[in-house]
Amino acid sequence: MPLLLTGLAYFCCAALALQLTRIDHGIAMVWLAGPLLFSVLTTTSRRHWLPVILACFPAGAVAIAAFGMGWTFALPLTVTGLAEAWGAAWLIKRLYPRFGRFRAIGEAGCFFAVTGIIMPALSALPGAWCAHLASGLPYSQAWRDWFTAHALGFITFAPPMLLLRAKARYASRPLHTREWFEWGFWLSGVVLASAITFGQNTVPLVMLPLIPMMGATLRLGRPGAVISIVILMVIGLVASLAGLGPTALLHGTMTVKLEVLQVYFASIVVILLPLAADLEARRRVMRQLRAAEALHRLIIDRTSDVTMRLALDGRIRFASPASTRILGYTPWALAGRIGYDLVDPQDRPALMEARQQALDHPDSTVAVEYRLKRGDGQLVWLESQMCATLDTAGQPDGTVTILRDVTERRQLMDDLSHKAMTDPLTGLSNRRAFDKALSDSVADSASIGSGGCLALFDLDHFKRINDDHGHATGDRMLVLFAAVLRGTVRSGDVSARLGGEEFAVLLKGATTEQARLVCERIRVRLASSEARAVSGESVRATVSVGLAALTPHTSVEDTMKAADAALYRAKHDGRNRLTIAA
Ligand code: GH3
Ligand code: MG
Ligand code: MG
Repeated sequence: MPLLLTGLAYFCCAALALQLTRIDHGIAMVWLAGPLLFSVLTTTSRRHWLPVILACFPAGAVAIAAFGMGWTFALPLTVTGLAEAWGAAWLIKRLYPRFGRFRAIGEAGCFFAVTGIIMPALSALPGAWCAHLASGLPYSQAWRDWFTAHALGFITFAPPMLLLRAKARYASRPLHTREWFEWGFWLSGVVLASAITFGQNTVPLVMLPLIPMMGATLRLGRPGAVISIVILMVIGLVASLAGLGPTALLHGTMTVKLEVLQVYFASIVVILLPLAADLEARRRVMRQLRAAEALHRLIIDRTSDVTMRLALDGRIRFASPASTRILGYTPWALAGRIGYDLVDPQDRPALMEARQQALDHPDSTVAVEYRLKRGDGQLVWLESQMCATLDTAGQPDGTVTILRDVTERRQLMDDLSHKAMTDPLTGLSNRRAFDKALSDSVADSASIGSGGCLALFDLDHFKRINDDHGHATGDRMLVLFAAVLRGTVRSGDVSARLGGEEFAVLLKGATTEQARLVCERIRVRLASSEARAVSGESVRATVSVGLAALTPHTSVEDTMKAADAALYRAKHDGRNRLTIAA
């Protein structure tokens, strides 16, 4: 049944064109049948093309025989017409597989090239030959007539026919009152302007219809453009055939007048269709953008992390609502401020370096942790993941960053590392921390010659204290000695409990003589201090000291051995004394 309808429609289009626009027994000046078949083929699966073409074949042949150049030329002319529409549909589907909706400017360009130039130029070769033989027209004029009629016919009539065949998306949803009003306004404008232009034959107001047609295209999109083109064509054709309109002012045959009219129609299609296609492409991008924007908003508003966008100079362009909770600033208070100003000065260089790295490598995400001063003055540790944003030329124009509050984790880490480096009884550094400080110091003395001394302390006859007063009292003595150390050494020096009742002090930058004085002071202070035993009585202790200088050419182990040997000698020589390594 659809096949029969297609055949019938093809017959009507061919017959109408031949009957109404064939002047002086030449070529039909308005060719409707080709655009019809083209629009059916391009909107039908290729499997069904053959039956459609076969259905149109008898329709075309009968129309040409009855209203055209007669039975003799019916066969070649029908084949030429069908081949032209088939060729146009085939070629355009090859070049633009999704052709049919004029959704992009490239699609419109493709359409003009194939149906407005290539196919009519080819079909005119045999078509003009038939016309030349049938009516005696010169071949070149017949070719030109055929080419013009077919090119203009395709350009003018295929778009509205295609739109009629496409699923009417706009019709499928009910229009709002305001939209009804808008459609009514622009389309009645087109009707009025077309009627004024074509309803008289005194003033050539050819540009007048373009005004409401532009409005219809811009406001109503592709359907607006195509429907107003149909209105203009119907009014224009009917009026021109009746001898009215601007073509009536031309001196020339009806053939020339209809050609001029079609050039006029085609010009308007060439103006409006790409415009509508481009607008449609933009609308589509806008729709996608709005959907992406909504998703992005949802993520930013719901996440507990802060999202920030910064300009190249570090100025905050955008901060998400979580900033109020995590940073203590509302997004509005942050906008426009320089991000670095909020960052703890100690951490600024690391952050700046990380940001530079993100800007230098836009494909990568850079992570950095730093402290930031909250709106209420508190410091928070933030973990930042950032990457660069690019401008339209592909150059970095800023960064986006996701900030997470990691204060708790950092505190836990700090606590752990502090514990790992501290002796729990005395609160002094432990052996691990001391070893590290010592090797750093030896490295410094090797590289910058800062010097310094190492002193080892061992409480004398400590076992006795434990034995006489108990282990708890022994512990009190250890704490007392730690207090003596702390109270005597300079703040830059490192005091440590190496284990048991053995202690060490690293006297940075001190000469042997300075170190000796300090250690002597420690020894004397301990000797004159007393710890309170658990039983209540007071307990005294003495300490022996071994002192060794740090020298650029001596290793940590050797320095340690030297100090230990000195300590051993101090013990050996009677305890409660200081010996300097040889
Ligand atoms: P000297 O060094 O003068 O030769 O004699 P000393 O009695 O101190 O000798 P030694 O180094 O052999 O003894 C150290 C003692 O310190 C042995 C141990 O019972 C005791 N000690 C080790 N660690 C602790 C501790 O944490 N608390 C207490 N109370 N005693 C400890
Ligand atoms: Mg000992
Ligand atoms: Mg001892």
